[in-house]
This record gives sequence, C-alpha cells and structure tokens, in this order.
Amino acid sequence: MKALVTGAAGFIGSHLSERLIDSGATVTGLDCLTDYYPREIKERNMARLRRAPRFSLVEQPLAEADLDALLDGVTHVFHLAAQPGVRKSWGRDFRVYTANNVEATQILLEACAGKPIERLVYASSSSIYGDTAAMPMHEDARPQPVSPYGVTKLAAEQLCHLYHVTHRVPAVALRYFTVYGPRQRPDMAFARFFSAVRRGEPVTMFGDGRQTRDYTFVADAVSATMAAATRGTPGGVYNIGGGSRVELLNVFELIGQVTGRPLRIERLEAQRGDMHDTCADTTRARTDLAFAPTVTLDEGLRAQYEWMSAVHA
Ligand code: NAD
Repeated sequence: MKALVTGAAGFIGSHLSERLIDSGATVTGLDCLTDYYPREIKERNMARLRRAPRFSLVEQPLAEADLDALLDGVTHVFHLAAQPGVRKSWGRDFRVYTANNVEATQILLEACAGKPIERLVYASSSSIYGDTAAMPMHEDARPQPVSPYGVTKLAAEQLCHLYHVTHRVPAVALRYFTVYGPRQRPDMAFARFFSAVRRGEPVTMFGDGRQTRDYTFVADAVSATMAAATRGTPGGVYNIGGGSRVELLNVFELIGQVTGRPLRIERLEAQRGDMHDTCADTTRARTDLAFAPTVTLDEGLRAQYEWMSAVHA
C-alpha cells in the first residue's frame, strides 16, 4: 500500500500513519500544522513517524499542494485534514471551516478523479446528525447538524458521495464518534479534564452533566479506518462508535477513579453547537468492516492519563 494521509500530524492522523507504517505501507503525510493548537504538540505526535524511513511529511496546506505529484502511485488516500472544534465554528471563524473542510475536500476529490486509487477514506463525524436523529443513530437518519462545524463535515461527506457517483472516486466516509486516547487534541473534553485535575483546578462542565457521548478509543477508530480502506463500500457511509455511551457525570466519576483525585466541578451553561446525546448504531460497520471495538472506556481513560502523565513528567 502506498498511502497519502492528510492531517497526518494530528491526533488521529498520526496514530493512523503509525499503523500504516507498521503494516508495511509507505506513507506520505500532508499537513500544514495549522495553529488551532500548538505546533509542538503536532511535532510530538509525529516523533516516531519522523524516524520511520517509509514516512515523509509534506508541510503544506492541501489547497496549495501539488496533488498530481503527491498522488502519483498512491493506492489509498486517507483524508483526515480538517479544522475541528464545534464551539469555534460560529461567527467569522466559519470561513476557516469552509476553507479547510469543504473547499480542501473538493480540491482533493477533483485531484483523485481519474487516478487509479483503490479507496479514499474520509473522516466524517457524528456531529452531522444533530439532535433530531433517533437513538441509536443509524446512517440513514436525516442529518441535521446543530453546529456550523457539523454542516461543513456533512457538506464534505456529500462531496465524497457526489465524486463517487460522477467521477468514480472510491470514497468511503466514516462518521467517528468522539475519539479519545493518547494525543487527544487539547481542546477536547477528556484532555481538558485530565489537565485540570493535574493542575488542581476545577473542571468546567457545560450544561447539566446529563448529556451522553459514545466514546471511541483511538486505536479502535484506526482499526476501522484501516478496514474501510480495503473493505468499505465505495460511496458508503459508516458509523464508528466505541459502544461506551456514558453520561458526562459518570465520566467525572471515572476520571476521579483513574487519577485518584476527586474532581471539583464548575458549572456553566450548555454551549451552542454541542449535541445533547450521541450513540452509534454500528451494525453496518460490524457487518462490512468486521468492526469490533476492543477498548473499554475505563481502559481507554487509563491509557490517556498514563500518556499525559508521561508527556508532562
Ligand atoms: P487534528 O486537528 O488533531 O488533526 C487535523 C490535522 O489536519 C491537523 O494536524 C491540521 O494541521 C491539519 N489540517 C487542517 N487543515 C488543513 C489543510 N487545509 N491542509 C493541510 N492540513 C490541514 O484533529 P483530529 O481530532 O485528529 O481529527 C481528524 C479528523 O477526524 C478531522 O477530519 C475531524 O473532523 C475528524 N473527526 C474527529 C473526531 C474526534 O473525536 N477527534 C470526531 C469526529 C470526526
């Protein structure tokens, strides 16, 4: 396999690139190391990759890269580059989201048209569902995002489908449900909770704490992504959820157990754009991709905390 991984310096992209290298693939990472969170963190994500002879990084924005050259001989494209984060996607920042999530995806799909690639796997998101889908969320539910971020992830997913139908780009979309584990982005909930606990500061809770999430350990998300590259139905969409749907208040309890420190909770109002609940129906991924999450929330939280403690030791 010769892979192009966009977003290779990021949380999920760096784990995926390592797995690809370990499985014998040659990997070109394309990432412009956006300043959404510090560059040093992304450099640290890539520390192992930088030493791998079959890995190379092209540090450029997707829209400026010579994609024809980068796609030469590539068998698989993994498109993870995006501007993440629900809460910042309102207001004038929205154009950062349309540029990095929608326009960049269209440019990549256009470049892939007519090339002999076997699959393009696109990292979509549970945020495309919004608050109206029945639980558990099925891929055929009507998408109705409640954040501008979700709208851009859905638009890019639709572009993947469109380019599959019109240009035969073998695109497969994976809707990841809240991915966590070592290297989780610093703006994400568990990363913020752990670092607050380590600093002895209160943990901020938005809303009443009764909201639920289906949490997916990063290694399980990567396994699903690898499987989609060979077994995913082109033009198809799959939910990727870890099967641990838990209330936020229970997460605080677990974090208290994992860290051995009681949490002080500071309550703030629910945030615009946050979904109340997510829960994946993973029947399709189980059937087509043999997806079977292996890491429980308790194990995954321990792994993330151990990693965080080692990094900040
Ligand atoms: P991340 O921010 O850690 O990684 C994204 C990477 O893409 C960053 O390193 C960034 O520098 C790069 N990037 C952004 N725009 C770019 C551009 N125009 N050109 C080149 N590089 C660019 O985020 P992550 O959490 O690893 O998410 C990876 C993907 O998975 C994203 O597409 C995200 O929308 C999706 N996703 C993530 C989650 C989650 O829980 N983390 C859930 C659902 C979907």
